[in-house]
Amino acid sequence: MISDRFDFTHLPDLKVDDVIKQVETYQKDFDRELMRECYLFAENAHSKQKRSSGEPYIIHPLNVAYTLSRLKMDVDSIMAGFLHDVVEDCDVSAELLKEKFGTNVAQIVVGCTKISKIKFKSKQESQAENFRKMIVAMAKDIRVIIVKLADRMHNMRTLQYMAKEKQVQKAQETLDIYVPLASRLGIHSVKSELEDLCLRFIHPESYYRLAEKVAMKKTDRDEYIRSTVDSIIGYLNEYSIKAEISGRSKHFYSIYKKMQMRGVDFDQIQDLLAFRVIVGNITECYKTLGVIHSHFTPVPGRFKDYIAMPKANDYQSLHTTVIGPRAERIEIQIRTFEMHEIAETGVAAHWKYKERDKKKNDDKLKWVHDLLEMNQNLDNNSEFMNIITSDLDAGGIFVFTPNGDVLELRHGSTPLDFAYAVHTEVGHRAVGAKINGKMVGLRYRLKSGDSIEILTNKSQEPNKDWLKIVKSSRAKTKIRQYLLKVEREKQRKVGEQALEEALKSYGTSIKALTKKNEFHKVFDELHAKNLDELFIHLGSKRHHVNEVLKKIPSVDFQESEETKKKIDSLYQKLEKTAKKASNKENAVVVDGLDDIVVRMGKCCNPIPGDPIVGCITRGRGITVHTANCHHIIDSKELRNVDVEWNSNYSFKHPVNIYVITHDRPGILARVSKNINNIGVNIRSALAKSLPDQKGSFVFEVEVRDFSEYLKVVSVVEGMDEVISVRRA
Ligand code: MN
Repeated sequence: MISDRFDFTHLPDLKVDDVIKQVETYQKDFDRELMRECYLFAENAHSKQKRSSGEPYIIHPLNVAYTLSRLKMDVDSIMAGFLHDVVEDCDVSAELLKEKFGTNVAQIVVGCTKISKIKFKSKQESQAENFRKMIVAMAKDIRVIIVKLADRMHNMRTLQYMAKEKQVQKAQETLDIYVPLASRLGIHSVKSELEDLCLRFIHPESYYRLAEKVAMKKTDRDEYIRSTVDSIIGYLNEYSIKAEISGRSKHFYSIYKKMQMRGVDFDQIQDLLAFRVIVGNITECYKTLGVIHSHFTPVPGRFKDYIAMPKANDYQSLHTTVIGPRAERIEIQIRTFEMHEIAETGVAAHWKYKERDKKKNDDKLKWVHDLLEMNQNLDNNSEFMNIITSDLDAGGIFVFTPNGDVLELRHGSTPLDFAYAVHTEVGHRAVGAKINGKMVGLRYRLKSGDSIEILTNKSQEPNKDWLKIVKSSRAKTKIRQYLLKVEREKQRKVGEQALEEALKSYGTSIKALTKKNEFHKVFDELHAKNLDELFIHLGSKRHHVNEVLKKIPSVDFQESEETKKKIDSLYQKLEKTAKKASNKENAVVVDGLDDIVVRMGKCCNPIPGDPIVGCITRGRGITVHTANCHHIIDSKELRNVDVEWNSNYSFKHPVNIYVITHDRPGILARVSKNINNIGVNIRSALAKSLPDQKGSFVFEVEVRDFSEYLKVVSVVEGMDEVISVRRA
């Protein structure tokens, strides 16, 4: 046996029977007719499509299914291999697949379809890891990733039919995303083939130079491999160890990487050959190592014991490098048959062992048992998936920014968490979001794969409720900081006004005393750095105003019950006003004007979160309009004032929502129920029939603010019968 690696080229004459024959080598009982039917279903679905090579499309799913059978995957995965493109390319429904081929097959195909919709837009290195985690998080079933890897492998094998630009892009994506996945899952055969294919398209000159040099020495090398294999077999026979030995030249990509790393030329790379010794059990592995080391000189520092300490992907073997018969380095791997199976097909091998487990081989190694127990139930491999995902640390969900970058967030995160992850200011001003183009409120729960755009509004402000909406500690901290700042500012104002008022009765002011440098002693003794800090101390009642007065040299302060009472009642008054200011009866705060009558424009009916403008109307106070209301735009000569939403105002605002639906019986009741279900009250509803079997409705609903309005819109928009929703 010279080489055990997979064929490099795609198989153009593959037939469904080749796949079935391959499955028969490891699986006794399975429904061959169902598999054939599955193949015919795919062939029929793809009948009008062609590959870039000009071949009928079905050759692609056939190759994918065949690769999966070479990986000894379970029958459901093979069928999913045939069907993996029919949902995406042929509009076949998942329900139909479920009905014909079972839930498992349908779910694997749906998983593959989801992953193919992920767009790898970003070229940043740091993003690759996130994309990999995202794939794992979205796959849920490990078989989805394995089918996806087989799919990618065949696409890479036929990449030459694509445009040059696309070739490099696809190869780079494969190297960044899929090669590490294959490696992490321990599917070595797929990993090394993908690597070599990537090299061929990303650095074609290096690839072909290597291929040529390796080919030049081929006959010579084959002869050398044969004689080395023979002598190792001879040595092992003396100890009656039966072994299967193979030799091969190393994969191009690993030679290439070695050349790059050491900065050397092909001729200087010595250990081009690798040998593999497969024996019956672990004891023989170590015996074999001893025999080899006694006949060939080991290279110091090159022995690795992955049997005692398996790699994270369960890979086990002994590795050593020795000086071979021709005085050049050769690498030797020693392992058992089971270790070999796991090394070549990685997690894929678990399915095979699962089948065999029923027979309970006594000599089966404990770690294989452990893996099997972990993966007892084919229908429920979630625990096994958990182990893989926790290795990849894909604990959260993965979502897209508008630029196509991937962000990792915790489970249960909301658009608000996303907004704070993007930028603090975006978080503070967030009023809602568009998820995959649809409007949602701030409480929406994000899912992996969501593409998110945050809607902001300058007048938006964080409030205490937000602490309950967000999941991430970053967002919580930012909201707390903001609330604290607002609270401090309130205290500062109260403190400043209290002091100013108190100083009035002594015929002086803060300004006058500052000029004369009279606050020095106060700052020192009350540990305040400056006036603002002093005001905050006073406003938060850490210190009493009297304590300040006492320490000002030019103020002749007489402490008495009377002065204390006077100051205390002043405090009370100031605090009341401050509270009132932040808790106004009005929905909006008018710049510089108190106690003014404010009404909402009937024309545009603004709700909190909308950008607004105040319009002064003679004898009627101020009318508030949305900034884009025709009333504001049309009449420029009107006197406008700046107004802001009062964030403490919690009354409900009426807003009209105009809904167009397909005219179905009971539609009004269903829309109403959905709106009520999210806790929004409907004041009135108007219904009208339109031509073309359509219905139109105007709902007057009561919302707290813009984000609640968005919630109503998203819930109504989400209904199948609904055609459009807008604000009336
Ligand atoms: Mn495909």
